[in-house]
Amino acid sequence: MSKNGFLVVISGPSGGGKGTVVRRVREMMPALALSVSATTRLPRTGEEDGREYYFLDRDAFEEMVAREEMLEYTTYCGNYYGTPKKEAQRILASGKNMILEIEVDGAAQVKRLYPNAVSIMLIPPTIEEMRQRLLGRGTEPIETVEKRLERAAEEIQLASGYDYVVINQRDGIEACATQICEIIHAEGARAFRMADEIEAFLL
Ligand code: 5GP
Repeated sequence: MSKNGFLVVISGPSGGGKGTVVRRVREMMPALALSVSATTRLPRTGEEDGREYYFLDRDAFEEMVAREEMLEYTTYCGNYYGTPKKEAQRILASGKNMILEIEVDGAAQVKRLYPNAVSIMLIPPTIEEMRQRLLGRGTEPIETVEKRLERAAEEIQLASGYDYVVINQRDGIEACATQICEIIHAEGARAFRMADEIEAFLL
């Protein structure tokens, strides 16, 4: 029997460059699985159902919640977002680690359920930089950008409750992804996760 993998929760404000960094981390660590969340928000241009998200209507999402099929879920800027439970449990049981890219409320729920999950808050270097990135994306109307900026400031206040805080410098994706990989490697070597290997040496 292989031992269970662990969850790596990455949070950070919208416009923090999270998506790009997480993609790079997965290229660097191909064995790391990525959880595909469910959401009720509309797909952005280029997003595909089942790849970036499972795009559901509110009824379908609420049904999943009622059937207790979500590991965690929350409302963010007027839409539901949640992590489907089944896939996460299957991956962890197979011994793989899994990355969840979720906001702060969901991250807190995961920590309660899985106290050994590793939480990382990814923040942009400055608030101005974050505004520029959000505006630059050009995929959201200005009111949505303002709402996301407000929420972002609230989220960063919670950074001290995370296990790690990583700053995503402009043009620093490579360094940032490397730092996250180092954290994951180090976490994998924590003594409590190596209990089976240690026990094998008992005489
Ligand atoms: P976006 O609409 O920009 O894709 O995501 C908005 C926010 O929802 C981001 O902070 C993202 O990390 C978060 N998010 C995405 N999936 C989930 C999820 O399954 N659960 C929770 N709690 N947050 C999520």
